[in-house]
Amino acid sequence: PVVTRFAPSPTGFLHIGGARTALFNWLYARRFGGKMLLRIEDTDRERSTQAAITAIIDGLSWLGIDWHGDVIYQFARADRHAEVALQLLADGKAYKCFATQKELEEMRETARAEKRHARYDGRWRDRSASDIAAMEASGAKPVIRLKAPQDGDTIVEDKVQGRVVFPNKDLDDLVLLRSDGTPTYMLAVVVDDHDAAVTHVIRGDDHLTNAARQSHIYQAMGWRTPVFAHIPLIHGPDGAKLSKRHGALGVDAYRALGYLPAALRNYLVRLGWSHGDQEFFTTAQMVEAFDLPQVGRSPARFDYAKLENMNGHYLRAMADEELVDALVTTLPYLNGGAALQSKLDAPMRARLAAAMAGLKERAKTLNDLVDGAAFLFADRPLQPDEKATAVLEAGGRGHLAVLLPRLSQLRDWTAAAAEGVVRAYAEETGAKLGQIAQPLRAALTGRLTSPGIFDVLVVLGREEALGRLQDQAR
Ligand code: GLU
Repeated sequence: PVVTRFAPSPTGFLHIGGARTALFNWLYARRFGGKMLLRIEDTDRERSTQAAITAIIDGLSWLGIDWHGDVIYQFARADRHAEVALQLLADGKAYKCFATQKELEEMRETARAEKRHARYDGRWRDRSASDIAAMEASGAKPVIRLKAPQDGDTIVEDKVQGRVVFPNKDLDDLVLLRSDGTPTYMLAVVVDDHDAAVTHVIRGDDHLTNAARQSHIYQAMGWRTPVFAHIPLIHGPDGAKLSKRHGALGVDAYRALGYLPAALRNYLVRLGWSHGDQEFFTTAQMVEAFDLPQVGRSPARFDYAKLENMNGHYLRAMADEELVDALVTTLPYLNGGAALQSKLDAPMRARLAAAMAGLKERAKTLNDLVDGAAFLFADRPLQPDEKATAVLEAGGRGHLAVLLPRLSQLRDWTAAAAEGVVRAYAEETGAKLGQIAQPLRAALTGRLTSPGIFDVLVVLGREEALGRLQDQAR
């Protein structure tokens, strides 16, 4: 059975690249009836934080990506990692190395001078037992290094990158256990993947060389190497590696920007993976279609405008009530959302629901909805913005003064009835409907853009709407 895993290091937020890696692992597991594990690689004690762990778990949950069983914490497995290193040592597949910092630095210097990658030269690889015993007697603490193959090539048959050949002379004897007895990342990953019976390792292609080195550990232990799939990193719109400048934000920031998890999922799946020309995928469709051969080898470019459009599409496709729910649950994270939340009693919620059909036509994000809905929650008297004020001052208030009594006499407070009144007045004065509608909009919403103005009248309700007109009429 397929077992994948998402293995973030909790040293920062769950960024967009990590979220995509998680999604690919999740989809692959679903597609083939397997399971995805979540492993927190918290072996770097200095840089790992609980806040980052929480952000990762929250971010995945918000995105709707779940995992099988309990979260695995790598640091908690350090004894097991050490056990494997010691077993390799006992089997003669690893050795104690007493090279000093100074010696290692010299090796790096030489490499730099010769313009090649630094590699450990294997000076302790074939030392006699008595040499080693003497060092130990002197109190020196060794690291344990793997005896990596020295000749030939290491070949990674990667599901995305294809066949990648690494000459073994470029790969040195990696450290398995540090001199303080703690395992290295390289060892921990292999042991954890093996012990959890991981079959597919899907991760960023910055780990491709690690895959070659890790396969040495698999071979030394006689373990089966998992299938590797190294996916290209995400680049910014300008082709450079995605950075803060491009908005390489945590997943939580996308929530705060008002994106819907389903839209972000859809956007992410298309970032580096394709299925013909299809752009929109329900989760079920993604699961049905996802596979590794369709993951491209060149870096995907992050495109904000595309994400925004996709989000707008998802937003408009949602039923009004569903959208109100999504908005209300996301309010605490949104810009200005907290203020709005404090006013959201039952009548306000009903008003929001009634306005939703009009609001969503103009919105791409939940923040756009909050912004568009602001007029619903405004306290009287409104403070119209600059443009709205200009319209009111340029004769708008006079129109309102005429319309106010006529509207207040309406028996049925409906959009059609209000429209009838406004049209009749426009005809009387020879004005275009828009010329009358704009002052109404200015008075009712404080702006010159809003959902359809007759709908706004209805959504606000007779009393509130007439009150707002009264406030601005003259
Ligand atoms: N912890 C590594 C990272 O966050 C991933 C390791 C792996 O997937 O093998 O980059």
